[in-house]
Amino acid sequence: MKHNFNAGPSILPREVFEEASRAILDYNGTGLSILEIGHRTPLFEAVMFETVELLKDLMQLDSGKEVLFLHGGASTQFFQVPMNLLAETGTAAYLDCGVWGTKAIKEAKLFGNVEVVASSKDRNYMYIPKGFEIPSNATYFHYTTNNTIEGTQMHAIPDSKIPLVADMSSDILSRVMDFNRFSLIYAGAQKNIGAAGVNIVVVDKDILGGSNRKLPSMMDYRQHIENGSMLNTPPVFAIYVCLLTLRWLKRQGGVSAIEKMNREKSSLLYGTIDSLPLFKPTVDREDRSHMNVVFVMEDPEKEKLFLDLCKKEGMVGVKGHRNVGGFRISLYNALPLESVKAITDLMRHFAASHS
Ligand SMILES: *Cc1c(COP(=O)(O)O)cnc(C)c1O
Repeated sequence: MKHNFNAGPSILPREVFEEASRAILDYNGTGLSILEIGHRTPLFEAVMFETVELLKDLMQLDSGKEVLFLHGGASTQFFQVPMNLLAETGTAAYLDCGVWGTKAIKEAKLFGNVEVVASSKDRNYMYIPKGFEIPSNATYFHYTTNNTIEGTQMHAIPDSKIPLVADMSSDILSRVMDFNRFSLIYAGAQKNIGAAGVNIVVVDKDILGGSNRKLPSMMDYRQHIENGSMLNTPPVFAIYVCLLTLRWLKRQGGVSAIEKMNREKSSLLYGTIDSLPLFKPTVDREDRSHMNVVFVMEDPEKEKLFLDLCKKEGMVGVKGHRNVGGFRISLYNALPLESVKAITDLMRHFAASHS
């Protein structure tokens, strides 16, 4: 068995893989593969309906929120958000606290003015800026809830008088949050929700239309809402995998239950790192991510030895992102506690023989 710590695409529940495989051969006893059914058939309409309803239920969304399933990855949302929301003469406020946020800022500048309210670039994004003020005359405030590459996470929702927009790609549904405080949430599915190929967008209809910009149909949230995410052929299979994963999450007890399990995993891992001087955490303690745990060793030679050992033991995805180096262990919802026990045992073992 492999222990899969990949950052994304990443581990999904075993049951999801099994059920998705069966549906490829025969979807619900129809004699047809899920890959060959039309998206405008009752078969798929039922999938779309249940996926939307389940997401609304798990996120406890108000009735005013629309749920969309779109193509193009979270990276498409970096420009689709300002394209829809930001007037050319308007200003959007952004928090710069990691590689993904920086990319979102770059794209937003194509459509209007961007005010960066705070940045943690001075220390290589190893912390979350504090005490920043969100200008009340900006159109919206955008931030990344979890910085997948650097391993930091915003633990509280910032106080804001203007609409909040968040990239939640790497921590959506991992912890209880008041999702209704956001005017727009987006997330690529491939980290906590399902397979690559689909984005989740949760949007408050009332904030749309303010940019007065002519939009291509496929870029216009309002048209996607009117057409129930079926303006064109949706990513049928990717949405089906989301449905299976959301059903699994519901069976686990929902977001509050998974948050408890996620805390147990991250406490065990951070506790192990803190107890072994050989391993050095890279981010400020209060900003540590519960999803992506980043750390290094002082000696690159030893880092390589540990990576080799992980590989030998069937542990996948432990190597850090090329921007940061060292190690990154991702603890997404589907990762079992046993995998964290296995790698922390290995870390203790390694430290005992290499200190
Ligand atoms: C992975 C990730 C992205 C990029 O997602 P794509 O679907 O590959 O475009 C954006 N933001 C965050 C926070 C991510 O973790």
